[in-house]
Amino acid sequence: MSLLSKFQPLAARYDALRASGADPFSVKFDDIVSSVEGVLKGKRTLLFGTNNYLGLTFDPHSMERSIEAIRMHGTGTTGSRIANGSYDGHAELERAIADFYGRKHCMVFSTGYQANLAMISTLVGKDDHLVIDADSHASIYDASRLGHAPVVRFRHNNPDDLAKRLARLKDQPGDKLIVVEGIYSMLGDTAPLKEFVDVKKEFGAYLMVDEAHSMGVLGKRGRGLAEREGVEDDVDFVVGTFSKSLASVGGYCVSSMEGFEILRIAARPYMFTASLPPAIIASTTAALETLRAEPQRREKLTANSRRFYNGLKSAGFTVGPEANPIVAVIIDKVDVAAAFWKRLVDEGMYLNLALPPATPSHQAFLRSSVSAAHTFEHIDFAIELMTRVGREFGLLPENVHPFPP
Ligand code: PMP
Repeated sequence: MSLLSKFQPLAARYDALRASGADPFSVKFDDIVSSVEGVLKGKRTLLFGTNNYLGLTFDPHSMERSIEAIRMHGTGTTGSRIANGSYDGHAELERAIADFYGRKHCMVFSTGYQANLAMISTLVGKDDHLVIDADSHASIYDASRLGHAPVVRFRHNNPDDLAKRLARLKDQPGDKLIVVEGIYSMLGDTAPLKEFVDVKKEFGAYLMVDEAHSMGVLGKRGRGLAEREGVEDDVDFVVGTFSKSLASVGGYCVSSMEGFEILRIAARPYMFTASLPPAIIASTTAALETLRAEPQRREKLTANSRRFYNGLKSAGFTVGPEANPIVAVIIDKVDVAAAFWKRLVDEGMYLNLALPPATPSHQAFLRSSVSAAHTFEHIDFAIELMTRVGREFGLLPENVHPFPP
């Protein structure tokens, strides 16, 4: 027995996965050639599992600004903004994000995970209540453990259940903070935000939306689900990440709430960690400029998402409920999903294998994320490959063709 013995059940599950030949954790690219192409074991591979929604990882504007920033300001800040001070770029990026959202305040964090950790654990204290969707991202769950507020979960995307739970808290003192996501990261479904806003108003709660997967993707200007649904004024806090549409790393929270700035000296995951390095700040600022200047990227992303989703659905796959850039194919058996995933990767399509308990319904998902940088040829290659392998695995009816005539 040792300190690590408690991980034996986990190790046994991982070993079983590896024995099947599918080991998603050991994927190592020989090279990344573009936003949507890599080389894996010497084979040119299409990337369908990157969250690179706008295809900006190789954008020359972002790359040049990043290189310039390293030359001017060095490779790192080597400490937190509280201890080491901020650089011009931090404040400039915060202003740019606040301006993008039309909000008064923005705080930038070292990751999106930390943005959730910081905001959620700090905004609600022991006398308040945190009310979260049951299918929340790990960062929201971890934030709920770091903070001191009692936590209430409501059924995924279920406004009635949310109302029921808030009604039970009605006579409790303190504030209530509801946290939901824009697009959910596993199934690609969106929150019924208008209904959630109605419930929030009825019970006088606050609302935070994590737009990690919807920023740059949804809404006329790419602000996310709250913009698309026309409820931005009723969302008190928007949290997001730079690691998806903006193609770098980092996180943010925007709000117009008076007094917001105090969080800079109250939120520990903001205070006690190194701030983002100049190169990241510069490429993120540049990527936000591109996002705003080139709405056609979002339009292409939408067209690609629909083509991919509809293609897989018409082939007979069980997919998530909505045609968003995250497209999950749901497979009941974990071993079939793992073998299917391995075949697709071997044949030149990289996507994510999501396994229980990480998946909401405890089924296995083959999770793809579509990019604006994919061409229709890439999308059709992926649909045809998945359909051919799906048939071989007995997952699809023989006589259904993925494209309607
Ligand atoms: N929120 C959601 C909904 C996410 O899916 C993720 C990352 N997958 C995060 C937050 C964390 O973002 P980051 O990668 O910037 O830490």
